[in-house]
Amino acid sequence: MITAILNTPIEYLKGVGPARADILKKEAGIFTYDDLLHYFPFRHIDRTRVTTIRELNHSIDYALISARIITVEILGVKRARRLVATVTDGTGIMELVWFQGIYFVEKILHPGDLFQIFGKVTFFMDKPQMSHPELQRVTTEATPKDYLEPVYPSTEKLKMRQLGGRQIAALTSLLFQQIQEKDIAENLPSSLITQYRLMSRWEALKQMHFPKNKTNHEQAVRRLKFEELFLAQLRMTLVKLRRHQQSKGYVFETVGEFFNEFYNHQLPFQLTGAQKKVLKEIRKDLGSGKQMNRLLQGDVGSGKTLVALLSMLIAADNGFQSCLMAPTEILARQHFDSLTSLLKNMPVKVGILTGSTPSKERKDILKQCADGDLHILTGTHALIEDTVIFKNLGLAIIDEQHRFGVEQRAKLWKKNKIPPHVLVMTATPIPRTLTLAAYGDMDYSVMDELPPGRTPVLTIHKTAHFRSEVMSFVRREIDKGRQAYFIYPLIEESAALDYENLMKGFDEVKSFFPEPQYWISMVHGKQKADLKQANMERFVNGDTQIMVSTTVIEVGVNVPNATVMVIESAERFGLPQLHQLRGRVGRGSEKSYCILLSGIKVSEDARQRLTIMCQTNDGFKIAEKDLELRGPGDIEGTRQSGLLNFKVANILEDKNILQAAHDSVVKLLEADPELTSDENIHLRNYLLEKKGKTVWSKIL
Ligand code: ADP
Ligand code: MG
Repeated sequence: MITAILNTPIEYLKGVGPARADILKKEAGIFTYDDLLHYFPFRHIDRTRVTTIRELNHSIDYALISARIITVEILGVKRARRLVATVTDGTGIMELVWFQGIYFVEKILHPGDLFQIFGKVTFFMDKPQMSHPELQRVTTEATPKDYLEPVYPSTEKLKMRQLGGRQIAALTSLLFQQIQEKDIAENLPSSLITQYRLMSRWEALKQMHFPKNKTNHEQAVRRLKFEELFLAQLRMTLVKLRRHQQSKGYVFETVGEFFNEFYNHQLPFQLTGAQKKVLKEIRKDLGSGKQMNRLLQGDVGSGKTLVALLSMLIAADNGFQSCLMAPTEILARQHFDSLTSLLKNMPVKVGILTGSTPSKERKDILKQCADGDLHILTGTHALIEDTVIFKNLGLAIIDEQHRFGVEQRAKLWKKNKIPPHVLVMTATPIPRTLTLAAYGDMDYSVMDELPPGRTPVLTIHKTAHFRSEVMSFVRREIDKGRQAYFIYPLIEESAALDYENLMKGFDEVKSFFPEPQYWISMVHGKQKADLKQANMERFVNGDTQIMVSTTVIEVGVNVPNATVMVIESAERFGLPQLHQLRGRVGRGSEKSYCILLSGIKVSEDARQRLTIMCQTNDGFKIAEKDLELRGPGDIEGTRQSGLLNFKVANILEDKNILQAAHDSVVKLLEADPELTSDENIHLRNYLLEKKGKTVWSKIL
């Protein structure tokens, strides 16, 4: 429990005052004693023991030496001018070097004097050296400290107010003189403390700042990581549990005519086992009387659209409308086309609404939507606008989720009296670690199986040297009647250079594939929607054999006859993007190829990306690698969520702790969902204490 003293505003700490408090708040987010307590050093300096010069070796980073000055000399001229002192402690000789403040230091150093010298150890020609060490003249041998000295992060502005790393250390030290063990009560259940041999909370916080030794610091870090991940997992699981308990959802009781007719007579193929499994999970949610909030993860091409359609038919069977929202116009249209084609023999009415729907059609659609004539509405963001009113929206499906923000999702919730059921389908698999850490408040389903008969795409990396060989290969495929994509990077919508490259690329492709033998479509983000659409359609219909495009075709597009994809400057793409792009081929029964063209010299990270692409088609593996290469902070959609802003934990390095924390939460809540047992009551109190500040208020 946070007792009063930790809530004390930071200005009341001795030596702080209003002006410095102000800058501490702005620069370091330190408002209270408690914030300072959680402002951790980024490293420690070990002055706990005096090292002899003979002991110094390459594995020692910083060292404390007690030695006497032998010589002091100024060497070199101009920029090379430096002060060099030699010192000895009787076991060996070490050099100290200064490049700045030479004359000032020279005055202090007198041969024969004893100094306590602290600094980073380097070696020059096998001789130990320190440049710009910290010095303290002493009369007797150095006295080592009995704890590791913390070094705190600081900023220019903090330093200007005398709040450098050392001064912050002084404040922390002062803080620890004012607080006691009782001010920092334990918040974890004692069974977990025992099971995982965790340090107490008080001890851990103390050892974070002023550890006795390295091991203690490591134990403190482990404890706080566990606490942090445990509380985050607990929070998300509670949100989920409370939603399950409290939320109301429309009940889709029956599976009726629409579903059965489609399933038994219209379905063009057998569902995969994974599709069946997921459909079962969804049906269970829809019949439960609670609002569904489910994340469906399925690799590219695993057949999510069909799952969406079948779910929407269940909605229709129960008298509800559905909407299917896509991130781009092209994709929305494609959904519309495939839904209409799949439903061509069914009395199900499907509409489409996008930003470029002409106003007459738009009016029409809006009317059908409001009257309830329309069963299914597909479209883009246009769907969530306030003008779109449904008679009875029961199910909202969001495809390729990461481009929609949480707020947009919330707008969907308001489209009926009770929030409609929500199914979110991701474009790219999310690594398991991330799913645990960031999506724990949703239920989720995984489709880990592709429809049968697919031959995996063969991926090859070639440097641009081999372009003409690559072109010949593509020509052979096209001459067999196949189609091909050429993809150019478009990292920023506005980057003129990228467009230039695209146009150059178009000309180049054209020179290899001249009309009238070959026809080429080109699609990019700067085109008007109808032109884009027309070009796309020509390719989809097979009127053109080649599609030259930017990443606008990244998601969703389905042309089974396309068997080759050439990705230009592949080193510039991120892994999820490459994987999505590659998913455009290998959709038919023919063998497909993805050729990654790159410059000769690519960065190490880029090389790793290209290598993993050549090694595997498994989206989950690629997602893990991506997380490993980029770190969690950069994963799209997670940064804004704030869910991954851990202070001490790092979900990549701390996978095991995360898993342990997760398992503990599950077990704990199974046994005591309200956290009212004797053992858990202080955990509950801790959460309540934090109430008001955070979303805890909603769940307890
Ligand atoms: P994604 O999960 O990437 O959105 P789609 O829904 O676009 O995948 O499906 C990819 C392709 O697989 C489509 O051509 C679709 O018709 C086909 N498909 C879907 N389910 C099956 C199935 N059970 N058997 C065979 N083909 C299927
Ligand atoms: Mg899709």
